[in-house]
Amino acid sequence: MNLEQLDLSDTICAIATPAGMGGIAVIRISGVKSYAVVDSIFHSRRIKLADADANSIHFGIIKSEDQIIDEVLVSKFKGPNSFTGEDTIEIACHGAIYIQQSILKLLQQHGCRLAMPGEFTMRAFSNGKIDLSQAEAVADLIAAESAASHKLAMHQMRGGVAQKLNELRSQLIEFTALLELELDFAEEDVAFADRNKFEALLNSICHEITQLLATFSFGNAIKNGIAVAIVGPPNAGKSTLLNMLLQEERAIVSNIPGTTRDTIEEKITIEGHLFRLIDTAGIRQTTDPIEKLGVARSQEKIHQSDIVMMMYDCTNYEIEELKAAIDSIPPDKHVLLLANKIDLTKSKLFAFEKVTMHLEISALDGKGILSLKEALIKIVNDHIGVATADVILTNQRHYDALQQALNTLALVKQQMDHNISADLLCIDLRAAIRLIGNITGTIDIDTDILGTIFSKFCIGK
Ligand code: GDP
Repeated sequence: MNLEQLDLSDTICAIATPAGMGGIAVIRISGVKSYAVVDSIFHSRRIKLADADANSIHFGIIKSEDQIIDEVLVSKFKGPNSFTGEDTIEIACHGAIYIQQSILKLLQQHGCRLAMPGEFTMRAFSNGKIDLSQAEAVADLIAAESAASHKLAMHQMRGGVAQKLNELRSQLIEFTALLELELDFAEEDVAFADRNKFEALLNSICHEITQLLATFSFGNAIKNGIAVAIVGPPNAGKSTLLNMLLQEERAIVSNIPGTTRDTIEEKITIEGHLFRLIDTAGIRQTTDPIEKLGVARSQEKIHQSDIVMMMYDCTNYEIEELKAAIDSIPPDKHVLLLANKIDLTKSKLFAFEKVTMHLEISALDGKGILSLKEALIKIVNDHIGVATADVILTNQRHYDALQQALNTLALVKQQMDHNISADLLCIDLRAAIRLIGNITGTIDIDTDILGTIFSKFCIGK
């Protein structure tokens, strides 16, 4: 979206409900001419929208010349008390595509422009109704696939992240202002800003930013799904387990070792948490070029995952091989060791240092699957217990800006150790303040960045 060319004084319209036919569709109109435009096509026996009360709903018909297009309900919202902050109308019409398109065409003929994707939310932002991180949360909320990601997006939309960042930013601004005051009185050689206090403040801000950054990988996992790699030697039953968890035949099950050559990814929700299950080709030494590719990919998937389910066939395994496979898993992963095929034999449970839990299952008849799901939830809950202590970061743009702010503040700390003059400190401090302000859009923000953010929205939002 090219924001430079976007005229925010236009009155815009768009279908806000999903594309296609539904029972009812909603068409949104926002801008100064909203009431006038709709009044020219909407006919109610009682009232003109321009004269109606704010926040009122009216029944009537939409007409194109003499042809009745539909019977509709029209809601009137008066700016600034509307989502966009502007005068807004929502037309609830019947869901036929012909009706939706006809009304949209009529609105354009009477002076509306079609909205760009995300333009309603962008107007809400530019009219000060929401900050940028809240606007991004609107997009996340629409895309939320699980109860947990919905909760995070809702928290962010209600200003969770913004509040925290504004606190940090104001502390920095306050101190920078004192430093700048010193510069104004440079000749008198006075110090308004207590360096020790400032150092303590910087340390505490850096600490808070570091903590916030640490929540990102988990926040991201909640938003996009907690990645669970299913690994183990060929024929351990990985594809069977995936099918059992998905309750459908997605992965190809066969008893020829090495069948799952590529990785398969599927999403499931367990108790409101979204998991991305990744079935990988078995980790084993191989000379087959295609299979080799699969093995490399499975190692990459382990690397990208939060939880590793290491499966083995308890009727046929080598303890040393199993140990070596577990040892090859990076230390930051949670490992669930799954002894599969216990319908065929009794297994022996081993205690490996790296393994969070060792469970007995039968991927074929479902035994132990409930305990497996409970174990997954336990790992998530133990994690969230730590992460929800404060705000959770879920957005890559926020993460990058905060990381840069942290680097800049680290530079300020170094400069202070070397007694660098206040004017140079101020330059870097201003940069850090700007970076934090970029996240909430508190400061003038690059129109390119805005364009990227809002173009991710669907039309009508
Ligand atoms: P993968 O190579 O690890 O993906 O293994 P598959 O899921 O393709 O399974 C290999 C073979 O083991 C298939 O014939 C499955 O039916 C069988 N299998 C998988 N899980 C079980 C189980 O729990 N019990 C029994 N008896 N057979 C299983």
